[in-house]
Parts: sequence; C-alpha cells; structure tokens
Amino acid sequence: MPFTMPYPADSPSLSLFPRLAARSGLAALARWILARGGRFALNFHGVSRQRYPNVPRDLQPHHTVDEFRDTLAWLAPRFPFLRLDDFLHTAKPGVLLTFDDGHANNLFNILPILAEFRAQGLFFVTVQHVQNPRNWLGFTREYARRGWGAEQNIPEDFARDCYDGLSEAQLAQLAASPWAVIGSHTLHHPHLPELSSAALRRELEESRRALAEISRQPVATLAYPYGEYNRPVAEAARASGYRAAFAVIPQGVGLPAYEIPRADLYYPDPDYLALKLSGLRWPAQRAPILPAS
Ligand SMILES: [Zn+2]
Repeated sequence: MPFTMPYPADSPSLSLFPRLAARSGLAALARWILARGGRFALNFHGVSRQRYPNVPRDLQPHHTVDEFRDTLAWLAPRFPFLRLDDFLHTAKPGVLLTFDDGHANNLFNILPILAEFRAQGLFFVTVQHVQNPRNWLGFTREYARRGWGAEQNIPEDFARDCYDGLSEAQLAQLAASPWAVIGSHTLHHPHLPELSSAALRRELEESRRALAEISRQPVATLAYPYGEYNRPVAEAARASGYRAAFAVIPQGVGLPAYEIPRADLYYPDPDYLALKLSGLRWPAQRAPILPAS
C-alpha cells in the first residue's frame, strides 16, 4: 500500500547514498568541504529508547537514543552547537538542533543527551497532543492502523516511547530545562497552505499562545508541518507574532526569516552526515537571520 511520509523524507535510495558516495569519493569531498565550517539548522523528530525488532522500521522513530548520541558525537568536534539566539542574531558557525512534533520521548530520550553534550534543542511542539497525549497526530494514527490494525493493540511501552505526545506537565518540565527552547508546530499539524486564512491564523496564533502559557516562555519560532508553506503562510506567521519560521526546503517566497532551511537527518552514518552538512544539498547560512538583539 502506498504510504505518505509525514514530512519530506529522504527517498529510499538515499539510504544507499552513503555507501555509493564512499565508493565514488563524494563522501571524502563532502568531509573536506564541511571542514571549512558552515552554519546549519538540523531537523530531527522523535528518538526512541531502543529499536523494536518486531515492529517495521518505518513505523518507529528514525533514531534510537544510541543513534542520536552517535550523531551528536560526530557533530560535536566539527560544528559548535548553537543556541537559538546565536543562530538567529549572529553569524557564528555551527548547528542549531531542532526537533519536530513534540513527542514525550523528547523529554525522556532527547533532553538527557542534549545535557550530556551541553547542546540546546529547539522543540517544535504540536498542541493537539499536549492537551491529550493519546490524541495522536494524524500520521501517527496512520502508523498505528498500518502496524497494529487498531490503536488499542499497540503495546503500552511502545506507545509511550514512540507515539505519545508530551503532556502539559512534561512540556513544562522540558521548557524549564536550560537545554530546551519551545517553538510552535501548530495546533493540529495541518497542511498549512490548504487552510482558509481564518483557520491558518488560528493554527498559528492559538498554538503560540497555548505553548507560551504552558512553557512559561515566549514562543518566537514556528516550524511548518511537513515543511509546507507558501507566501501567504509565511506572511501569516509574521503577522501572528513569530520572529522566524523554519522550513525544510526553502521555496524562496521573499521572506528569508520565515523560510529558514533545515537539513533533515534520518541516519547516524558519518558519510550521510558529511553529505548533508557539506553545503552541496543544503545551503549553509552565512549571515545573521535577524538583526543583533
Ligand atoms: Zn511534524
């Protein structure tokens, strides 16, 4: 059955890419290029405690705790971990780590590793499953139907580790950490360009207000669900009070602070990482995105 990934994932052939690249010498080229330093926003999703051998791989988070730690260990000597303010307001080289969707595993599995590496994470949280952590996002429900037929057939420990949203209390706990900043990923994770302007404003404004209230911090950034946006969506983000918004692939609609590219990372493989951060596929940011604060 054809299945649409919730975000613009790498094509299956890209998992072969590191091996091919290594053979062709492209990986060596990428490693040489990135050694000159760059400046990137990186996009992760959930991170599970472990691999679940009886569950199809594509129904699990892309990274386990060990794979995520390996990824940060590869990054650490090459790219300084940037704080959001540094990423937005300075030209310092390095990487900004961002995490989409707001799963409970952000608190349990990701935050301890960020603390280990003294790296700040920018967490884009969807409000829907903060109000009820079992009110899973649409694509998560689709995973559940595909893998188990019905949501109630999913083992409790797997659901908690992989699919549940952050509860209000868990979001507050995450936000209180010095290693976390909270951004919005809308109320319901919709395809924003398809919404009426009233529905669009509601998704952007109400999520910002709700997340600021629970996290007790200003919510200044947005990540577009599925990376989808157009000029009206970017303008609505600006009008809704966001200072910046993150895409995956920039569309060039003329509002650079509202279409910040992010390299989406799905594998811990060093050759894959070198290619993603070479500037060959994603442009490195050079200038500050916003004026100095
Ligand atoms: Zn998402």
